[in-house]
Parts: sequence; C-alpha cells; structure tokens
Amino acid sequence: MNIHEYQGKEILKSFGVAIQEGIVAETPEKAVEAAKQLKEETGTGWWVIKAQIHAGGRGKGGGVKLAKSIDEVKQRASDIIGMNLVTHQTGPEGKLVSKVLVAQDVYYPGESETDEFYMSVLLNRSTGKNIIMYSTEGGMDIEEVAENTPHLIHKEEVEPGVGLQAFQARKIAFNLGLSGKAFKEMTKFVDALYKAYVATDSSMFEINPVLKTSDNKILAVDAKVNLDDNALFRHADYAAMRDLSEEDPSETEASKSNLNFVKLDGNVGCMVNGAGLAMATMDIIKLSGGDPANFLDVGGGANATTVEAGLKIILNDPNVKAILINIFGGIVRCDRVANGVVEAYKNIGEINVPIIVRLQGTNAEGGKKIIDESGLKVYSAITLKEASDLVQQIVN
Ligand code: GDP
Ligand code: MN
Repeated sequence: MNIHEYQGKEILKSFGVAIQEGIVAETPEKAVEAAKQLKEETGTGWWVIKAQIHAGGRGKGGGVKLAKSIDEVKQRASDIIGMNLVTHQTGPEGKLVSKVLVAQDVYYPGESETDEFYMSVLLNRSTGKNIIMYSTEGGMDIEEVAENTPHLIHKEEVEPGVGLQAFQARKIAFNLGLSGKAFKEMTKFVDALYKAYVATDSSMFEINPVLKTSDNKILAVDAKVNLDDNALFRHADYAAMRDLSEEDPSETEASKSNLNFVKLDGNVGCMVNGAGLAMATMDIIKLSGGDPANFLDVGGGANATTVEAGLKIILNDPNVKAILINIFGGIVRCDRVANGVVEAYKNIGEINVPIIVRLQGTNAEGGKKIIDESGLKVYSAITLKEASDLVQQIVN
C-alpha cells in the first residue's frame, strides 16, 4: 500500500528521523493557517506548497512551489489544489490534487545542489537481505543518474537478523562526503530510517532528497513509503492511512471481494483459479493475438458469487472485447463452476461481450454440457487450444 508524503513523514518522525516539518491542508484557507502555525513552531518565513498525490516527479510537473509570503501561500495553494497534475509517474491522464502539504522552506538561498542526497531502503529478494541505496546525486533527476551514471549509486546490504551495524552507517556518511557534525547527523539519520523501515513492515522507503542544510542538519525533504499489504493487519494505524481515491477503483472493488486483481491495458479480460494458471492464461491470450485486460485469480472458491464479482469488475472496463474464464477443476468441480457462471451471467443481466469458458479437470464434460445448453452467449472449450482459437476468432 502506498501512502502520501505527509503520512510517510509522520511515520519517519515517530521513529526519530529528522524531517522537513509540514502541515497538510485541503483548502487555501487551511493552508494559510498551516503556514502561520509553522512559522510559530519553526520560525520559518518561507514555505513550500507540495501537491499530495501517490506519484513522484511532482516538482517537475509543477506540483511543488515556493511561497515567500502568506499571500503567496494562499495563491500557490489555490493553484495546486484542484489541479490535474501530470508527472512521468501519473501517466498522461494525470491525477487530481485534493490536498497540499505546507512545509517549512529548508533550502537557504545560494545552497549548492550537492547538498541533496538520495537514499532508499528496500528488500533485495535475490539475496534475502535489506539494502540501503544512496547517492550524492539526489534530487529530481535520480532516474537519469541511475541510467547514465549507475556507479554513483551505492548499495549497502544489511543482514536482517543482525540489523544495521554502526560501521555501515559510518560508511554511508563517509561515502556521501560528509564530515564533522553532518557526518554524525547522517549516521543517526540512517540508523533511524532503517529502524522505521523494519518496524513498519515496509517494502520500500525512498527519501529523495535527503538534505544537508547549511547549518549541517540532515533532513528528509520527501518520503515515498510502500507498506507491505500482507503485514497491514499488524498496523491498524497505518492501514487507516489508505487513500482509496488514489487507487484504481476496479482494484479496490476486487479487494473487497477477496479477488487478486491487477488492472492491465489490454482487450481480453480473464478469470482464472490459481496464480500460475492465470499467468499462463495471459500468455495464451497474447499468443492468440489479444492483450490481457487484467490479471484475476479467484483462488480456490470459484463459485457463483466470486464469478459474478469478477465478471462485473472485468465488464466495467470499456476496452474489454472478450472474456476468457479458465478454470481447472481440482478441488472445485467443473459442473459447479459451470452452474456458477450461468447463474452469475443471469444475475448480471445484459452482457454484450462474448465469454469463453474453458473448464478442465473433475467433471469437465458435465460442465461443458451445462454451458452449451444454457442458451447464453457463452462459448465452451475443454482444451487450451480450443480456448485460444476462440479468443483468436473474436479479437481478430
Ligand atoms: P518530487 O518531485 O515528487 O520528488 O517532490 P519533492 O518532495 O522531492 O520535491 C521536489 C523538489 O522541490 C526537491 O527536489 C527540491 O528541489 C524542491 N524543494 C523541496 N522542498 C523545498 C524547500 O523547502 N525549499 C526549496 N527552495 N525547494 C524545495
Ligand atoms: Mn522527491
């Protein structure tokens, strides 16, 4: 689960990571109040107004603006709230901004760019260790750094059972070219950041930029946090940070019905039991000249209720030209699945998209018979070849 920058910073702060302080606001008036409060609390006289959306690249897209007076705070906040922000991570359709973070300005005029570092903590699945990635070349062009000068991105692997060692934090601070007070602050920063990553069961913490101020403080200016969905049950307070308006509505709908669904851009919807078979089915669709419109694993319980929920979600997508239901009857019997499909079909009412049902396994013949005799616009298949031929006929 992704969360907003302001929420990520709240979490960081609770673990002792020094942050650029800020207050979230939903209206320009609230932004003004927030700015005044920040001035009292931090002494800041300038502010940055930052669009809160679940996507990076906001600065380049015009979603992060400096304000040098209260009037400018109001102006910038009204420009940004309600804007459709397009960044390289939102896709061309962009995202509607409904809140801004009013933050203290922590860049003092004339500071050089080298004071912006990059740092992230994530899991390296191939070694089974956590990894801290960091670079002196932080800021808005980190993608280009990774592409053109990858040797400037350092990696420090941490053995999860042992945790981050003091020498590793010192090595990072050293490689970032720091000395004196900033060096010490950086070791504290890395230590707290790593603790936050572990304690929150996150899959990623990305802080870009990490800023060294001219008075040698080390601050998290941005925070991109991805919490592991499978561990959210242990963190009710973080689970409550979920912002459904930032998520794909069909994926939200699917998760309510306990369906494993991922929206894709193709024209053939699919519904399958088992993740492996679902992957193979997507390959079959591709080989037949179509493009999968989604990944959908209904799991062990392919009954009328799950089939109906799945079909409804797939049918919501206007790109879908055909649907392939591919079920292997191992524990679940094919005739029961077939009855489920027919019942779901009737419950939904009018369906204008051809549906191909491929049932294989226990009682496959009985299942095919039910589909064939249903009188509905449903094509049946037993072998995968038959199913893929049908897909080919429909999409071409
Ligand atoms: P992103 O573009 O979505 O990654 O958003 P960031 O939070 O990283 O902000 C983008 C850029 O805004 C940063 O790289 C900074 O250069 C700039 N920025 C952020 N905070 C401040 C600030 O307090 N003062 C000034 N002058 N610039 C800031
Ligand atoms: Mn950033």
